[in-house]
Amino acid sequence: MRTNNQPTNNRRGRSPRQTLSSAIKSKAAALGFDACGLARASALEEYKPVLDQWLKQGYHGKMAYMANHFAKRLDPRLLTEGAKTVIVVAQNHYPPVHQPASAGYKVARYAYGKDYHMVMKNKLQKLAAFITDLAGEHSYRVFTDSAPVLERSWAVEAGLGNTGKNACLILPRKGSFYFLGEVITSVEAEPDTPFSKDLCGSCTRCMDACPTSAIVAPGKIDAGKCISYLTIELKDRIPEPFRAKTRGWIFGCDICQEVCPHNRHALPHQEKDLEPLNPFTDWTDHNWRTCTKEEFSRSFKQTGSALSRINHEKLADNISCADEGCR
Ligand code: SF4
Ligand code: SF4
Repeated sequence: MRTNNQPTNNRRGRSPRQTLSSAIKSKAAALGFDACGLARASALEEYKPVLDQWLKQGYHGKMAYMANHFAKRLDPRLLTEGAKTVIVVAQNHYPPVHQPASAGYKVARYAYGKDYHMVMKNKLQKLAAFITDLAGEHSYRVFTDSAPVLERSWAVEAGLGNTGKNACLILPRKGSFYFLGEVITSVEAEPDTPFSKDLCGSCTRCMDACPTSAIVAPGKIDAGKCISYLTIELKDRIPEPFRAKTRGWIFGCDICQEVCPHNRHALPHQEKDLEPLNPFTDWTDHNWRTCTKEEFSRSFKQTGSALSRINHEKLADNISCADEGCR
């Protein structure tokens, strides 16, 4: 592995680490990411009791994988050999068009386009390749919404924003409709100052608005009660206490972000690969209700839609819960 030479400060008085850090941020912006920050790769000791308690309380529902790799979650050096820096990027996913206001069946906005995992990973790989060109070979891994990385905590460490009471990362002046992604690398670049401002204050709108009381404490979600988990992650039929409470959401839920004042001025994203697929702009409730297995496959599986994370049977159960809530 080739390592960075350590030249002296440049003419602007910036150290090589600072120069590298700002080059990475410029490249992230050129790739269309909306924010980028860096943190020193080290153990997130202060998050350990929080994660430990969340798991012990069973707030991860049936997502058993959340309890795996406990040590790796807290220390990126166990995920990437020789890790020195965690680069965190944010990608706006607020769509340019939305489901019609009259839509009874609602899909979380992040899922309107193609599966974002691929879109994000492609761009993160380009960022990592840029670092190779600049600094030489480095050990790295890219992540987006991947189980072993506490990405919101890393976003706070990298100075991007703060976690709201709805547990979403809020970027100042931008809001929370953002995907996060990380490059964990052995390259040493200048870290940013961790974000320390509380962006919620006395507001409790998200906690008050959650129809299933899934926000059990500020920043703490009982996933087993969350509509997002119930309509996507939970492979079984949605259990009885929640069937009539999903408020029309058939894939994910945006309620606690819709009510957040930080999202009042959310602007549409500019990412071509996240453009809404036609069911999310054109389908009526009738289309959703009568969607056959073949149509599901054609409209979601074959288009690489984020909805392909569930199957036709699960969609039908989610729709039937939405109907139960209207009775
Ligand atoms: S996503 Fe919906 S169900 Fe989950 S915490 Fe937010 S408002 Fe509650
Ligand atoms: S709705 Fe209010 S309390 Fe909830 S995340 Fe937004 S600012 Fe924070």
